[in-house]
Amino acid sequence: MTAVLAGGDDVHVMRRVDTAHPQVRRVLSQWVDSLAQWSIPTSWYGMHLVRPTTQSVVRDWFYHESARPTVLSVDFDGNSYAVRTLFTTRAAGSLTEQPLGTLRCRFTLDASGSSWIIEDALETTTRHWDTTRIGIVTLIHAPIHIVDSQEVEVSVELLRQTAERFSLATPSHVQCYVVDSRDDIGQMLGIDYYAYPPSAISYPRDGIVLQSNDASLRHELMHILFSQYTQTHPVLREGIATLLGGTGVLDVDQAVDQYIRERDDQSTPSFVQLFTSSRVEQADVYVLGAVLCDAVLRSGGSVALFEVLQLSRPSDVMYRIASVLDLDISDRQESMYSFVVRQSRRTLQHR
Ligand SMILES: [Zn+2]
Repeated sequence: MTAVLAGGDDVHVMRRVDTAHPQVRRVLSQWVDSLAQWSIPTSWYGMHLVRPTTQSVVRDWFYHESARPTVLSVDFDGNSYAVRTLFTTRAAGSLTEQPLGTLRCRFTLDASGSSWIIEDALETTTRHWDTTRIGIVTLIHAPIHIVDSQEVEVSVELLRQTAERFSLATPSHVQCYVVDSRDDIGQMLGIDYYAYPPSAISYPRDGIVLQSNDASLRHELMHILFSQYTQTHPVLREGIATLLGGTGVLDVDQAVDQYIRERDDQSTPSFVQLFTSSRVEQADVYVLGAVLCDAVLRSGGSVALFEVLQLSRPSDVMYRIASVLDLDISDRQESMYSFVVRQSRRTLQHR
């Protein structure tokens, strides 16, 4: 039972899976077909926009890193089949496979009892959780979880003020799933292990945030506020959320200071690399994105900012920013380090 992935690889199945069992065969063939179908690349601008499903988790968390799936087990637990899958990836030039993560999903019989369907992991995990409403935010949390209502109130107020400042509509409702740790975010989606667990993640079009306790809600709320800009280049999407809401852990000034302390010319990407290379780190995207958004706001006001947020092609974005900031794009191959240092001497316009 094999299906070919978009990259040309097969889906591997471990020998412990009882492929002679008729129900196991049905579940397995459906899963293997889905994995093959979901491996077809989609534009990554749309990532994380809508409610997380097993399909979007496989696409955005695993296939985004060109992972290869191995089905580890298909086991019956009395009323559903639990399917565990390992995703591995191989760095360019390397011969060894690295584990990227493991996913478990459950197949249950549909109402007619004739076909197996994949359960919604988020729905199943959080079905019996408590809800606490604070302004437009509904927190969904385990009953033992202690809610920091003051922090949420401050975040909601910041959202309201920012919406007013940019004449954007305040989101009518945000659903925020709060857990204790980064691993628990994965657990809610059926991910048992992930190599790069985020401390918070938002699905702006559906107004959903998944958040661990150690991250602030502010950054994610800014993504929701700017959710109508669905095509925004990731550097600017993260940049504006960081400028207005911090990184989730640090506020923007602290993040810029830390970046300046830890980096130098050698380790900071150029303007062109920032927008075109797949090797830039998260700190580059957040901090350089925030500094650029700040510079655009300073030179061209919110009109210029909204203009660049509407662009998605890297070349369009670079050309537009260069013209607003009066940069000569042909010598933008140099490191952006001195640009960050220069900008940090002025107070960032996030207040
Ligand atoms: Zn973000």
